[in-house]
Amino acid sequence: MPDSISIPQQAEFVIRRLEENGEQAYLVGGCVRDSLLGDTPQDWDITTSALPEKTICAFEDCRVIETGVQHGTVTVLREGKPIEVTTFRIDGSYTDRRRPDSVTFTPDLREDLARRDFTINAMAYHPQKGLYDCFGGREDLAAGVIRCVGEPDRRFQEDALRILRALRFASALGFTIEENTRQSILRNKELLQSIARERIFAELKKLLCGKGAVPVLLEYREVLGEILPQLRPLMGFEQHTPYHQYDIYEHSARAVGEVPPAPELRMAMLLHDLGKPACYRPEMQDGVLRGHFKQHAFVGEPICREALLSLKADKAFWQQVCFLVKYHDTEIPPTKPQVRRWLAQYPATWVERLFLVQRGDNLAKGKNREPVRERLERADALLTLLQEILRDGDCCSLKDLAVSGKDLMEIGCPKGKRVGELLEWLLEQVMEEKCLNQREPLLEAAKGRIAQKAE
Ligand code: ATP
Ligand code: MG
Repeated sequence: MPDSISIPQQAEFVIRRLEENGEQAYLVGGCVRDSLLGDTPQDWDITTSALPEKTICAFEDCRVIETGVQHGTVTVLREGKPIEVTTFRIDGSYTDRRRPDSVTFTPDLREDLARRDFTINAMAYHPQKGLYDCFGGREDLAAGVIRCVGEPDRRFQEDALRILRALRFASALGFTIEENTRQSILRNKELLQSIARERIFAELKKLLCGKGAVPVLLEYREVLGEILPQLRPLMGFEQHTPYHQYDIYEHSARAVGEVPPAPELRMAMLLHDLGKPACYRPEMQDGVLRGHFKQHAFVGEPICREALLSLKADKAFWQQVCFLVKYHDTEIPPTKPQVRRWLAQYPATWVERLFLVQRGDNLAKGKNREPVRERLERADALLTLLQEILRDGDCCSLKDLAVSGKDLMEIGCPKGKRVGELLEWLLEQVMEEKCLNQREPLLEAAKGRIAQKAE
């Protein structure tokens, strides 16, 4: 792990300016953590002894946004880059388990670091003085450990969102959660009921997209059940099919790790089998118990919508996820006309993600791929066909068709709904490769159809 951090000159400028004004200033939090890990920080936050009014004065010649002055935060814009500057503070008591009722400013950096959630997030760095790490953050970073600063029960009772933040950092960094912190999370998980659903949703999306999402979802299933009670019936539900090695929850969690890290895709994998418990039909086949789950994808879709609405997910998000869940088990023959038909109805990203979901679902059924080989081959074939169709710009919608409604009326198609029907029919011919998407052949085909209908 490096001893020094390379800092953008804008951040260095802000630190120097505060010091010229007789104040202390350090980089803090995520940017220190990420730099020590060798990752590029998304943003550079500064913690300072200067009170907000003094910070504002010190940057009179810069653009300053008063982001949250009552909490001590102002944003300095330097060469277009926003740098958040927050006064050293101690959080007051928490009565709503969410936000401190008040904050008190302090001249003591250590007190500011002590209010932070995890040791790896509680380090400060100064370009000349180096690292300030009074809670063992660096050691935990090197060991890959998430550990509360201070007494875990107290910290989670102050702000229960920290429970999910712990899981999110464990997932994003591929870390494990230290034992006392882990036990405290499990003891205090019910406190998540008092947290705003929007904040839970934001953390959950980050958790799902982390490189360590699968072990976190498996180890902290009780926490997942707390924030999404719809998942509880999946836990321990044995499937009794030749395809599945895991219970429904474990399969869903493993499926999350089999798709690329886009929030919609990963959420769809987590929620794709919500309909299974309600659809379970056991049957004895040659003395062996077999489970069937007919229609589970369609049954699961409204449960998925309910779960996402409860998280206050935006419409674009839940609509896409519900689409993926609804059709995750639909058998699509791997032919270009079939793929074009899906593209005619849904955005290309949705269609691509549907095929990725079908692939991920089958990859996560068990270690032995043989029972699902055919389905995996089909999903791969669909993905290849889709790439070819998009690359070639194949016609998959009326707007790509080489003739318009006006053209059809000019060759004698009666006005009104017949025009639309004929356009749809022509599109169908093109997508099925029965007609080229060119003006002349299309008009020929249209004439034939008009004559046929007139008979
Ligand atoms: P990233 O921005 O990459 O998600 P981050 O560590 O910067 O990670 P932020 O949510 O931006 O996370 O918070 C900045 C810092 O503020 C954290 O590093 C941590 O020190 C502190 N912090 C944030 N949220 C809390 C909280 N709920 N309780 C205690 N400290 C917190
Ligand atoms: Mg941050």
